[in-house]
Amino acid sequence: LLDRIEAVEPAVHAFLSLDAERALARAAAVDAGIAAGEPAASPLAGVPIAVKDLLCYEGLPTTAASRMLEGWVPPYNATVVRRLLDAGLVILGKTNLDEFATGSSTESSAYGPTRNPWDLDRVPGGSGGGSAAALAAFEAPLAIGTDTGGSIRQPASMTGTVGVKPTYGGVSRQGIIAMASSLDQAGPCARNAADAAALHVIIAGHDPADSTSLDAPVPDVVAAAGAADATGMRIGVVSELGGEGYAAGVEKCFTDSVELLRGAGAEIVEVSCPHFRQALAAYYLIMPSELSSNLARYDAMRYGLRVGDDGSNSAETVMRLSRGAGFGAELKRRIILGTYALSAGYYDAYYGSAQKMRTLIARDFAAAFERVDVLVSPVAPTTAFRLGERVGDPLAMYRGDLCTLPANLAGVAAGSFPAGRSSEDGLPVGFQVMAPVLGDDRVYRVGAALER
Ligand code: GLN
Repeated sequence: LLDRIEAVEPAVHAFLSLDAERALARAAAVDAGIAAGEPAASPLAGVPIAVKDLLCYEGLPTTAASRMLEGWVPPYNATVVRRLLDAGLVILGKTNLDEFATGSSTESSAYGPTRNPWDLDRVPGGSGGGSAAALAAFEAPLAIGTDTGGSIRQPASMTGTVGVKPTYGGVSRQGIIAMASSLDQAGPCARNAADAAALHVIIAGHDPADSTSLDAPVPDVVAAAGAADATGMRIGVVSELGGEGYAAGVEKCFTDSVELLRGAGAEIVEVSCPHFRQALAAYYLIMPSELSSNLARYDAMRYGLRVGDDGSNSAETVMRLSRGAGFGAELKRRIILGTYALSAGYYDAYYGSAQKMRTLIARDFAAAFERVDVLVSPVAPTTAFRLGERVGDPLAMYRGDLCTLPANLAGVAAGSFPAGRSSEDGLPVGFQVMAPVLGDDRVYRVGAALER
């Protein structure tokens, strides 16, 4: 894999840092254990993995793809990273993302974009484009992503890989750089459902160090992926996620997949979730509000970039210069939006209404899950778009997220699974499966059935 990485990275740029020496040493240690007849730490012991550069890994820079954290080396491991190491996985390096995970194309990275291995002129999706591209380019068999509004699922869709956003609270957020804390969720990325499930059970489970971590048994996603059987399942097609604005090639892959599941014995019904239409507006108020608050800690005083500290400038000037230089344009846009939405006099009108809409979206899910086992939809309205195509048009970039946002707002489990290639451009298309809180196993059951 290290040879493969060296060969394709100049074109793909999936990684921000590599950790070859420690990786080789850890792999050798696993080999030695096997030779000595010791029991393996887990079924994935010795398997290499790429980790999104938003998770702290001791001894390797963690940048969040921002100048603000350039060269910062965390003094501790995120819980997810610690669980990977305890399970004997071999971390190859850290993957590229949109700056602080804010984007849908990996183009807002301060270290240059990642390219889609299927077509190097196109984006791999985002924010987790690095992890998805590493899988699609065969640089790693497994990866870790994070998903605040689709950053695991949409890149999976655009690269023909698998990505699952577990139930909110299913995987610890401790040691993961916060974007929007009530929406952030780490999860597994892989090239098939069974691999993703094997990784899911290693990283999931209660963590007392994360106050929002669920103290509940991890759903048996491995058995569900193994069963790969949709027989008798009730599958709801969300009426609001499709139709006008969706590429014909995407719609065709979606309906073909639905027919495949019907043929496999699933019962298909149409389900209306009327408030999903407002998910985009609610998300793009709640997310920047939380983001602006989380990013306030980058004040150039305790850690991170410090600019203008020459003895003549006030602390406030140093903060202003440092934040001005450390944050990119997209982050500044969101910080301004979020700060405005939270300000006195506007809070109720913006943040308050968005929170009410969030509740209505969660109620749509609850009502739907009384009738069906899972909800399905496209992952994104289009296949991978060209680099630069949406950079100057933030609203066009945001609109592409409309299918993935409802699951984050309601905290439910959701995954993206390959649904073939578009008849229009030959690019990969993903199929989204959404399941109730702690119903993650249903996501895998349906996703794996599609692979059959
Ligand atoms: N594309 C979405 C955004 O820009 C989601 C990002 C994410 O999930 N981290 O906010």
